[in-house]
Amino acid sequence: MDIILFGPPGAGKGTQAKRLVELLGIPQISTGDLMRAEAKSGSPLGEELQRYMSRGELAPDSLTIEVFKARLGQEDAKGGAIFDGFPRTTAQAEALEALLAELGRRVDKVVVIDVPDSEILGRITGRRSDPATGQVYHITYNPPPPGVEVVQRKDDTEEVVAHRLATYKAQTEPVLAYYDKKGVVVRVDGVGSLDEVTERIKAALGV
Ligand code: ADP
Ligand code: ADP
Repeated sequence: MDIILFGPPGAGKGTQAKRLVELLGIPQISTGDLMRAEAKSGSPLGEELQRYMSRGELAPDSLTIEVFKARLGQEDAKGGAIFDGFPRTTAQAEALEALLAELGRRVDKVVVIDVPDSEILGRITGRRSDPATGQVYHITYNPPPPGVEVVQRKDDTEEVVAHRLATYKAQTEPVLAYYDKKGVVVRVDGVGSLDEVTERIKAALGV
């Protein structure tokens, strides 16, 4: 099964993707995580990607597709994957379709996690993660256990969030029309507890 988790920054894509990994036994492919790892390595590609991320702008399609393709080709993604934060442009959606077609696969479902703009800022500025495990927390909604040292992403500031949300509306939301035509889009309400949202996604996927 190949599933896209779609929605604005802070919708809960990463959080829910990790839960689906456990449930479905297929990996999460997050282009944001892949780009942050590349940036951390200090490579020239990483430095270039970091410039876009810091501004809340999308990385160019060519670089993004390159990073994504390398990950999709790995052994653990042979039986399907959960795509988190990819595709974010129509060109990326077309590239994904071609890459999957080569493998005899296609996007089975696009799950849109609906969260109103008014909720986004608080979710993102309160997001923290454990650098040791990658586990994502929220200072209020999903606090880290005592003793766990958490860090905040550089782009999770109020100014960058506003720009990321504008980028989402201008460049990413229109990608839904591409999938609507294929009849694979399902929408879930992303407001509620983490468990409630997981149950809604499971129901939408029929798993
Ligand atoms: P995305 O990958 O879509 O950007 P995340 O999964 O990283 O979103 O979630 C953004 C922040 O919101 C994190 O701090 C996460 O703990 C928190 N969060 C996720 N789901 C919910 C929810 N249903 N209610 C409240 N906060 C949530
Ligand atoms: P969030 O879900 O909170 O928006 P991500 O971790 O998915 O955050 O993405 C962080 C940043 O990484 C984006 O603002 C963008 O700069 C870059 N990025 C991630 N995925 C893509 C993509 N598919 N295309 C272009 N840029 C991307």
